[in-house]
Amino acid sequence: MDRVDNIQASKQKKVSDNNQNRYDFIIVGQGLAGSVLAYSLMQKKQKVLVIDEEAQSSSSRVAAGLCNPVVFKRLTKSWMIDEVLPFAKAFYQNQETLLNEQFYFDVPLYKLFVDEKEQQFWKQKSNEPHLFDWINDKTEFPFDATHLTYPFGAAKTLQSGFLKTASWLSKFKNYLIDNNAYLNQKFDYSKIELIENGVVWNGYRAKKIIFCEGYQCTHNPYFDWLPFKLTKGEVLTVKFKNLELKHAINKGVFVLPYEDNYKLGATYNWDELDEVPTQEGKEQLLKRAARFIDDDIEIISHKAGVRPTVSDRRPLLGIHPKEKQLAVFNGMGTKGVMLAPYFANKMVHLMLKNEPLPSEVNINRFIKKEA
Ligand SMILES: Cc1cc2nc3c(=O)[nH]c(=O)nc-3n(C[C@H](O)[C@H](O)[C@H](O)COP(=O)(O)OP(=O)(O)OC[C@H]3O[C@@H](n4cnc5c(N)ncnc54)[C@H](O)[C@@H]3O)c2cc1C
Repeated sequence: MDRVDNIQASKQKKVSDNNQNRYDFIIVGQGLAGSVLAYSLMQKKQKVLVIDEEAQSSSSRVAAGLCNPVVFKRLTKSWMIDEVLPFAKAFYQNQETLLNEQFYFDVPLYKLFVDEKEQQFWKQKSNEPHLFDWINDKTEFPFDATHLTYPFGAAKTLQSGFLKTASWLSKFKNYLIDNNAYLNQKFDYSKIELIENGVVWNGYRAKKIIFCEGYQCTHNPYFDWLPFKLTKGEVLTVKFKNLELKHAINKGVFVLPYEDNYKLGATYNWDELDEVPTQEGKEQLLKRAARFIDDDIEIISHKAGVRPTVSDRRPLLGIHPKEKQLAVFNGMGTKGVMLAPYFANKMVHLMLKNEPLPSEVNINRFIKKEA
């Protein structure tokens, strides 16, 4: 053994001798993806360490957290809704019991029709049996029209709701801290040491590192080849002078009653990929709202984030093609609240039982392109 080998061996011995720094999994990122995955692994008695740099903004903290079971544009069911939504609701209910606070709220989401054609299209679609559980067939006029213009009425989605993502993430972070499972630090990729049957990072040893960095995965040298097609989004928190809504509404933009205020969103921008709220974003949202809300709007806050959206609109799960100690759980796109719990469970099965992932979400689908 030469001197370098000796140093390496003694370093590894030091790490492996210190049981405190040994984990089953290191998870990078405490957004929705990393948090849901961390708890799903903890439920299976795995020892996890979650590392997050606590950046000022993140997609998960900015998100309104809406779960809309239908795609309004085409009036189709959201992808895999029958499987993912019950799973998501059960997961967040479990968190509510664990953390003793309500985070998930059922709320009817009304589509306000822009014209008679849209109203008729909804009516026609509501007769399709596969949509019976997801949209109501009745055209209603449930809102006071003094400050809301909707001459063609509205109809509601069934089983919609929202997660207070920022509140849950902050409570769950405390839970991780209490369980010695959290580290506030920027993850430096150059400190990864791949060893036989595991990985060491900065003195912490684990069987695997699972990366959940959201859009910042594009800076990860092991997974920067994944075909993200990122989307910036902006959301306002607002107060209305007169308008009072108990339900969520959508007419090009959504308005969601949220604590004592409302969330108004969201924008989609594929060119400017940063977390800076812009004047253009704000004006766009206010302009769209003004098309159907006739009231004074006071802006309480304005936030931006980058959604981890993918070229084929499907999540990105799997193990690195060469370095088996490294894995990724990402690509939740515009629907992280609904998708993360179901697919975290798939990831757990891959990690603990080597069960294959559904091919639609497996990163293997892109490997040929990389080679
Ligand atoms: C404006 C807007 C509105 C949205 N509305 C909804 C909605 O209504 N419903 C819905 O389901 N989804 C919505 N989304 C999408 C949703 O936010 C995402 O699907 C989801 O939050 C992505 O979670 P994530 O954990 O993958 O990524 P992020 O939330 O980006 O989390 C990644 C985490 O990793 C950390 N990190 C990254 N790199 C490092 C590093 N090197 N070291 C340490 N830490 C690191 C970051 O600090 C961050 O905390 C919205 C998104 C936006 C932007």
